[in-house]
Amino acid sequence: MSKVLEQFFEITKIPRQSYNEEKIRDYIYEFGKKHNLETYKDNYKNVLIRKKASKGYESYAPIALQAHIDMVCEKALGVDINFKEDGIKYFVDGDIVSTHGRTSLGADDGLGVSTILTILEDHSLKHPEIEAIFTSCEEEDFSGAKNFNQDLLKARHLINLDHCIEDEILLSSAGGITITSTKKLNRIESNELKGFEITISGLIGGHSGEDINKGRGNSNIILFRFLKYLNIPFYINNIIGGSFRLSIPRESSIVIGVKNEDSLLEKKDEFLRLVKREFPSLKNLNINIERKSVDYYYDNEFNQEILDFILLLPADAVILSNSFQSMVDASNNVGEIYIDGDTLFVICDIRANYDSQRSFLRDKIIRLSEICEFDYKVWGSYYSWPYKSESMIRELTLDIYKENYDNPKVKPIHAGLECGYFAAKIKDLDIISIGPNSWDFHSPDEAFSIKSLNKFYKILLEVLEKCKFKK
Ligand SMILES: [Zn+2]
Repeated sequence: MSKVLEQFFEITKIPRQSYNEEKIRDYIYEFGKKHNLETYKDNYKNVLIRKKASKGYESYAPIALQAHIDMVCEKALGVDINFKEDGIKYFVDGDIVSTHGRTSLGADDGLGVSTILTILEDHSLKHPEIEAIFTSCEEEDFSGAKNFNQDLLKARHLINLDHCIEDEILLSSAGGITITSTKKLNRIESNELKGFEITISGLIGGHSGEDINKGRGNSNIILFRFLKYLNIPFYINNIIGGSFRLSIPRESSIVIGVKNEDSLLEKKDEFLRLVKREFPSLKNLNINIERKSVDYYYDNEFNQEILDFILLLPADAVILSNSFQSMVDASNNVGEIYIDGDTLFVICDIRANYDSQRSFLRDKIIRLSEICEFDYKVWGSYYSWPYKSESMIRELTLDIYKENYDNPKVKPIHAGLECGYFAAKIKDLDIISIGPNSWDFHSPDEAFSIKSLNKFYKILLEVLEKCKFKK
């Protein structure tokens, strides 16, 4: 068994759910001390370990390696585990390590952590001075990377080990921000109206960043387009659209009251045909309309503002990349629409590869909220790691990847990485993100390839060996 795999199995015994990283933090801290390496910890459960340059590498610039120590803890129905106390039970089937679908595995980012630890303890390797950064709470709020004291770092080149495809080198990541817009609604009673529930279903959903340009549609937007298409007065009783702001909505329903239902039923098939033509991959897209008995509605006067607000929101992929063909630079996922306590909530999650684009979309939604008389709250912001045309660590790594893969890809990712915080704090920091093949993160199906891990490890050692940048 390779050392790096052994190290992964070792840390898999240690519980390390986000916000409960004390045990893994202590393990890594003791690991540094035990190996006589310069080791620091802070109040945010981050650890920094310094390993001196190997002989002959003293004059080269130091390099930082970074991974997050926490993991997402998910379990399948009926699995008995206490994530605060128990390690993860894993299985090896040939090349694949998994939990047989029981719990998440922690390959994200246990593979990064064990890769770095293995490098730290091997004194036969050739490399410049290494600064190993282990951060906490990536999976929840990035609070480790956010609060890490960058003044401790000498390195101006950083390799983040949190990617999951072996022949890809990431060169930028998206930042994000969330806006919750709300409108107080007034109840009215009406006996003249007939209640109907309209449900849009059969969409595919997915990650609100990485999957936003895959033609999957958004059931919230389709629902409100249908309401607009009907072109009849209606009163709203309830809305449940989407389930999580970071997922593309797959199902949305609204309960409305109308005086005359003819248009509702007539226009359904017509509209469905039009939308299916726009989204050829949505084979199961469906609109269901059912009679529903309703006690109250909300005042009709607000409908126009609600329709305007939702239909004028920038939605899905909003800005395409000017540097990378068919990549998205900025997007907005209209992730959740619902009514709670007589208040309508619309939650938008923006992602953007440049913080200036994030502000641009944020300001649009704020202004639109004001015009349509919604209150709003802006929250959950995190930084992008913007693309830089020049990168020494990227060039070097790409050269080595080219020797190992037929077609290595160098690309941006439309999702958040901790690199954003390091890039924001250290302006001249040169960053890449890489990692071995692993799948189904954040789910009980999480797994990785041993072959890929070993190959990745070997390639990374070669990068370190050739990393002879001037100080
Ligand atoms: Zn991760």
